Amino acid sequence: MRDEWEAGATPWLRRHQQEATYGTQPDPVQCMFCGSQTVKRSASDRDEDRGRIELYCDNGLCDAREMVLLVKRDGDEAGFRADVRALHLVDDGTLDVHAAFPPEARSYTLDELLADHGKEVERRMRKAPPTRG
Ligand SMILES: [Zn+2]
Repeated sequence: MRDEWEAGATPWLRRHQQEATYGTQPDPVQCMFCGSQTVKRSASDRDEDRGRIELYCDNGLCDAREMVLLVKRDGDEAGFRADVRALHLVDDGTLDVHAAFPPEARSYTLDELLADHGKEVERRMRKAPPTRG
């Protein structure tokens, strides 16, 4: 089954990286954005979804941290998936997501952000690795 994949089969990456983890991945693959050998399955990747893989780039110099690989056409039922159909509607202009679901950009400064989402910001800042400098 080398170099083959058919709709419904387990994607190669899930066989290559059997654990989806927040931690270190011993067998990372190449990032499609930065080119570094630092991509792993995201901890939120779901084994049962064989048409979509969630990825994470561990390169601290890469801004493409969270990514999704989605099969849009597979000769089977990919076109009937809700995420594929929604993406198609966005791509062809049928669905204006910003009009349908206006972004909530109420916090323009750090002070406003802390006032609006203080606990969430504090929780994320505690989890962030120390910055150099
Ligand atoms: Zn990257």
